[in-house]
Amino acid sequence: MISSTALWYAPRMQMQQPRPRSFDYDEASRALVITWDDGTSESIPFSRLRLACPCATCHGELGVPGRFSTTQELLPGEDELADLSLVGAYGLNVIWQDGHNTGIYTHAVLYDLAPHVQLSQEASPHD
Ligand SMILES: [Zn+2]
Repeated sequence: MISSTALWYAPRMQMQQPRPRSFDYDEASRALVITWDDGTSESIPFSRLRLACPCATCHGELGVPGRFSTTQELLPGEDELADLSLVGAYGLNVIWQDGHNTGIYTHAVLYDLAPHVQLSQEASPHD
């Protein structure tokens, strides 16, 4: 018998994804804060963001392993945010304190990294 949980596997791309309205960062919690165009805000910890850097240096290219292909350990400065800049209408370039600046996170990547926990809404009974 097929498990009913399979019914919940809907590819992300088929879902209506909100687009970022604005980007900010929170020094205290060391996280990138994204406000989506549906009005919700979510934060992505800098460490999670850096480990997910989509560039070739971090994740490898054409069979050549990248910085985080074999380790998830961050060195000092690697998860310290230095600057943010928008890339066209589709992405965000994150510049880190160690000088790394080649990672461009598309809106889809950022959406996948965000936790999608509705902190502002009252928790519904779940049993
Ligand atoms: Zn990178």
